[in-house]
Amino acid sequence: MECNCIFCKIANGEIPSATLYEDEEFRVILDLGPASRGHALILPKKHAANLFELPDETAEKVMVLAKKIAGRLKEGLGADGINLVQNNGEAAGQTVFHFHMHLIPRYDGDTVQVTWTPGTLTDADKEEILKLF
Ligand code: 5GP
Ligand code: ZN
Repeated sequence: MECNCIFCKIANGEIPSATLYEDEEFRVILDLGPASRGHALILPKKHAANLFELPDETAEKVMVLAKKIAGRLKEGLGADGINLVQNNGEAAGQTVFHFHMHLIPRYDGDTVQVTWTPGTLTDADKEEILKLF
């Protein structure tokens, strides 16, 4: 555990949290600054700063767990949709540098913003990016 990481402390039960789910590898908690009613965070117990550091086997399990929790939130809270949001790096809006996935329940007509202004895919960009893969 990284001694100064708040999500390590929460995930491992050192700091109490509103826990929706826990197993050996994960804790799912309510976000303290929710974007909407039921906004939850999936935290792996083992520290990884972001997606790039996350072990493959943990990454695989995160999506299965997200599916399970999203279904419970949708049904239990009567949400009309759910956004999965996962920020990596300051430029992407990450503020806590311990991997976490947001589950943000959405309600018809809510004012939550998970949005961007669509640009245009240029031929130059397309060619350059396709060459990377
Ligand atoms: P990020 O911007 O890094 O993707 O998201 C960090 C999230 O963690 C924010 O939504 C913020 O409200 C939440 N958060 C920060 N500190 C705490 C905390 O101590 N407890 C809980 N439950 N959520 C926190
Ligand atoms: Zn941590």
